[in-house]
Amino acid sequence: MTTYPHLLAPLDLGFVTLPNRVLMGSMHTGLEETKDWNRVAEFYASRARGGVALMVTGGMAPNSEGGVFPGAAGLFTPEDIANHRIVTERVHAAGGRIAMQILHAGRYAYGPDCVAPSPVKSPISPFPPKELDEVGIEKQIADIVTAAVRAREAGYDGVEVMGSEGYFLNQFLVRHTNKRDDRWGGTYENRMRLPVDVVRRVREAVGEDFILIYRLSMIDLVPEGSTWDEVVTLARAVEAAGATILNTGIGWHEARIPTIATSVPRRAFTWVTQKLMGEVGIPVITSNRINTPEVAEAVLADGCADMVSMARPFLADADFVAKAKAGRAGDIAPCIACNQACLDHTFSGKVSSCLVNPRACYETELVYTPTDAPKRLAVVGAGPAGLSAALVAAERGHNVSLYEASGRIGGQLNLARTIPGKEEFHGLVDYFEGQVAQAGIDLHLETRATPEMLAGFDDVIVATGVTPRDPGIDGQDGANVASYIDILTGRKIAGDRVAIVGAGGIGFDVATYLVDEGESATEDLDAWLAEWGVTDPGTARGGLAPGGPKPAAPKRQVTLLQRKEGRPGKGLGKTTGWIHRAGLKMKGVQMVGGVNYERISAEGLHISYGEGRESPGLIPADTVVLCAGQLSHRPLADALEGQGASLHVIGGADLAAELDAKRAIDQGARLAASL
Ligand code: NAP
Ligand code: SF4
Repeated sequence: MTTYPHLLAPLDLGFVTLPNRVLMGSMHTGLEETKDWNRVAEFYASRARGGVALMVTGGMAPNSEGGVFPGAAGLFTPEDIANHRIVTERVHAAGGRIAMQILHAGRYAYGPDCVAPSPVKSPISPFPPKELDEVGIEKQIADIVTAAVRAREAGYDGVEVMGSEGYFLNQFLVRHTNKRDDRWGGTYENRMRLPVDVVRRVREAVGEDFILIYRLSMIDLVPEGSTWDEVVTLARAVEAAGATILNTGIGWHEARIPTIATSVPRRAFTWVTQKLMGEVGIPVITSNRINTPEVAEAVLADGCADMVSMARPFLADADFVAKAKAGRAGDIAPCIACNQACLDHTFSGKVSSCLVNPRACYETELVYTPTDAPKRLAVVGAGPAGLSAALVAAERGHNVSLYEASGRIGGQLNLARTIPGKEEFHGLVDYFEGQVAQAGIDLHLETRATPEMLAGFDDVIVATGVTPRDPGIDGQDGANVASYIDILTGRKIAGDRVAIVGAGGIGFDVATYLVDEGESATEDLDAWLAEWGVTDPGTARGGLAPGGPKPAAPKRQVTLLQRKEGRPGKGLGKTTGWIHRAGLKMKGVQMVGGVNYERISAEGLHISYGEGRESPGLIPADTVVLCAGQLSHRPLADALEGQGASLHVIGGADLAAELDAKRAIDQGARLAASL
């Protein structure tokens, strides 16, 4: 008897039976644009080998005007079809199934040729869209249908028609983006004509025995979004038009409510999909912030859906399903929903990867080949860099000793896990603990490695991390001054009014810790929904609460400062920075840029501005917390220079500037793969 009876139950679609209830949701990884089709094929084939029932590709453009950006991949030529066939054949050979997502971006297309139902510019794009006429609409539908036919020709098992997240089809549905008064606008029947026609004509063109998933926006999270009645009406019409499965979309891209970030509670939106259960006869998939087999099983057992979609968890671990099936859930590398190596890369035009799994999308390049010459390796420091190096080296067959000065592995991950909204880091540290124990690594906790102890190893990897930068402010030795480590480890308790020196990632984290102390809305779905102003779409259009966000009162009055001019938080993650800024703003945190730190006194932090700007002089504070960045901690590395064994310095000890766990883990893995 499996632990996950619902998750691992087959799903009969009539003409095909899926082996379990897990869909790998669509992700734009940027792989297709590399044109390295062996690499694309290996990415999907390795996930097929890992047991996922059905995968959906990243969005493929049906034509040039509908691509998310100029040059976006699609099935335009016989060569494109042949290239995609490499992928589908490899997936099928691995025993998997794959559907191609057709994504028409409409006014979200990042280019001057973008088209939409009405010429309403999106707040997240500089390009005003051109309004389509009747001929133009017919062309868009025909191009989507052609893309589906070509997908079948390329060997795909189906298509997913992207109808959510505020893309083209979704733009027809709501009055804010559809101001037409012809047969494509006005009444809801008219507004839903385009999505329904698309599904009907795709079905007619591809035949009956081809999976057709329709991704439907079930809660738009934007003003003038769909009502629940409209959602149900569309779902039924799409079913009647020939969809095989309905997938859930949550929120438009322009919504100002987080939907997938780490601070979003797990399974935060499965209650929305649940509302649709029973309203249609075809299977319904739910999605967003489902990242463990336990959560996925509970979602299905609770009757929230027939199937679960997980996307980023398959970057973190290609073998998610196989491990769940084998009773090895603890060995699944957890997606912590950080976006740092996936979506943040996508939005910077880089190929995606994964913070916890640097092999994601690099399967053909970063290969952990078993060694035929095992070495004795010492790794010093069990933070992300050291852990990654130790685990990959051990996996390859090296003999690894790991030294950690503190009583626990994890390094700075142990600070991150104390931050409200970053609870996923608990699971990451637990995962590393389990892997270190299983890998046969000789772990020495509470051991500060010395050069003498390290004599005799073939290679020494120093991953001793960072130390806080000393900002050298007059008065910083006072009893009312604390470092971020003092605060996050509970060594010092902050007073009611706090000034934070430094507004980088850690300054923001400390501010969150101080305003939310002890209470994380991420752990309390109702509180989180109220905090961001989300309500039942059955009672309010788009699921936006009429009263707006209702954040809990802050526990402290916090001012976050930086010397740089401009808006603090600019350097935070591309797709998550706005959430941190909005979250702190809701809690009344003052953010001040362009300051000079004059001194700290018992009254607080004394600052000045440059010429022409009047300074308050004193930021009254009971506690001043120093978050002024970090420097490499290298005494051991310096002592080992020139001492025989091959020395490698990685992570923060190598370079502290812009250090994060993504870079540390990647560097550790790549070094260990090369030894
Ligand atoms: P950071 O992002 O480099 O920020 C350091 C802050 O200290 C800046 O605001 C900087 O602003 C200020 N500063 C630098 N030198 C100073 C000095 N001499 N005196 C006073 N202030 C000074 O570093 P961090 O906050 O320590 O974070 C470390 C790394 O962890 C970062 O790379 C970050 O990406 C990562 N991290 C990320 C997250 C996340 O949410 N993604 C969370 C935590 C940590 P001014 O120079 O303008 O004053
Ligand atoms: Fe998940 Fe972060 Fe990896 Fe993206 S980078 S897949 S969010 S762990």
